[in-house]
Amino acid sequence: KSGDLYEKSKQIMPGGVNSPVRAFRSVGLTPLFIKKAQEARIIDMDGKEYIDYVGSWGPLILGHAHQQIVAEIKRAAKDGISFGAPTEREYLLGKMLIEALPSMEVIRLVNSGTEAVMSALRLARGYTGRDKILKFAGCYHGHSDGVLVRAGSGALTLGHPDSAGIPKDYAQNTLVAAYNDGEQLERIFRKYGNELAAVIIEPVAANMGVVLPKVEFLRRLRELASLFGVLLIFDEVITGFRISYGGAQGYYGIRPDITVLGKIIGGGMPVGAYGGSREIMKMVSPEGAVYQAGTLSGNPIAMAAGIKTLEILKATPELYEQLELMGNELETSFHNLGQKYQLPVKVNRLGSLLSLFFSDHQVVDYKTAMQADSSLFTRYFRYMLQAGIYLAPSQFEAMFISGAHTQQDLIETLASVEQSFQKITANAPH
Ligand code: PLP
Repeated sequence: KSGDLYEKSKQIMPGGVNSPVRAFRSVGLTPLFIKKAQEARIIDMDGKEYIDYVGSWGPLILGHAHQQIVAEIKRAAKDGISFGAPTEREYLLGKMLIEALPSMEVIRLVNSGTEAVMSALRLARGYTGRDKILKFAGCYHGHSDGVLVRAGSGALTLGHPDSAGIPKDYAQNTLVAAYNDGEQLERIFRKYGNELAAVIIEPVAANMGVVLPKVEFLRRLRELASLFGVLLIFDEVITGFRISYGGAQGYYGIRPDITVLGKIIGGGMPVGAYGGSREIMKMVSPEGAVYQAGTLSGNPIAMAAGIKTLEILKATPELYEQLELMGNELETSFHNLGQKYQLPVKVNRLGSLLSLFFSDHQVVDYKTAMQADSSLFTRYFRYMLQAGIYLAPSQFEAMFISGAHTQQDLIETLASVEQSFQKITANAPH
C-alpha cells in the first residue's frame, strides 16, 4: 500500500512528498507511508510496526499520540480552530518559554522553524543596520534563502547557494565558517566582524549528524559577537527542551541575543518562535520597524499541544535523566558492537540526541562528517528497517529517543543492530 500511495503521490507532488528527506532517496528506497502511531511505535500502511527513532524529526519527546496532549488538542478544537485574534493560550505558552529560557524577555510565536529563523535574521539586520550574517557549515536553519548556504571547502568562502533559485547577491551576504574551528572564527571576526548583523549556530549541531560543540568554541563565539556588536542567534529548534528544559543555552550556560525555537514547543503541531531581550524585540512590528506577521501564528491547537508538552516536561524533570540513561545505553552498546564486529563506529551524543557514524575519524565538523561511510550506513539502515527499526534515512541525521521508549524497545533495537552488523560483516544481501 505504501508503494501504491507513493506512485499516486508522485503524480501530484514533487518526489511524492512534501519535504524532501521523507523520500528516502539517500538510502535508495521508497518511503513508508504512515498510518498511525502510539508511544514509540509507528505502523505503516501495510500494517508493519516499527520502533521509531525519528519522532517526527524531534518534536515528539513524549512519544506519539500522548494521551494528555491528544486530550488537550481535542479540548482546544472544540472551542474553535483558529481566530486570527489573540488568545490566552498564546500568553501561557509564551510565558512558559521565557521562563525556561530567560535570555528571551519577549517572544514572538510563528508557524515553523524556517519562519522563526527567517524572522530572527531580519530582526538582527533591522536592529544592527548591517547586512551580512555568519553561519556554520553543516548547520541547517530551515530553507529561507539566506541560510541555504554552506562552506565551499572548509576555509571561509563567500557563500554560494545550495539551492537553485537563490539570488547570488543574496547568498553573498552569508559567510560560512567551520563548526568548532576557533582560529578561523577569530580571522573571520577580525575581517568581517563590523559588517556582521548576526552569527547563527545550532549550539549542538544535529543536521550533519549530531556534532557536539567545543565549549570553548561556543564561549569564544559569545565573546566575539559581543565585542563586534554582532547578535548571537542560537537556533534551538532541535536542542530546545531536548538537551535540557533550559535548552542548550541552559546546559552550557551561554546567553544568546536571540533564540529560535520550534518542534518540541508545539508537541508535534506546526509551530516556531523567536525571542530575545526587550530592547531587541521592540524592533518587531507592531512596536517597531521590522515587519513580521502570520495568519495562523499562535494557533490555539498548536498552543494547546505545546503547553501540555512543556507542562509534562516541567513536572517530570526525571524524564531527562531517563533519556540520558537510555542514550548512554545505546551509545555504549553501539561502541561495543562496533568493536565486536570490527566496524568503524563513532557515536556522537548529548542526552537523547545521538548519531552513529560509520567512520574511522571523530566527527567534529562538516568536513569530518562528510568522511563518514554513507554506503555502510545505507546497508545498516536497510537491515534495521527490515527488522522493524525506523531510523532517519541518512547518515547525516540524528536519532531521537523519547520518553515513550521502553527498556524492551532498547533491547529489541540493540538485537537488531547486532544482526545488522553481523550481516554487514558477512556481506549478506539486503
Ligand atoms: N533549525 C533547525 C536546527 C532545524 O533542525 C530545522 C528543521 O529540521 C529548522 C531550523 C527548520 O524548521 P522547520 O522544518 O520547522 O521549518
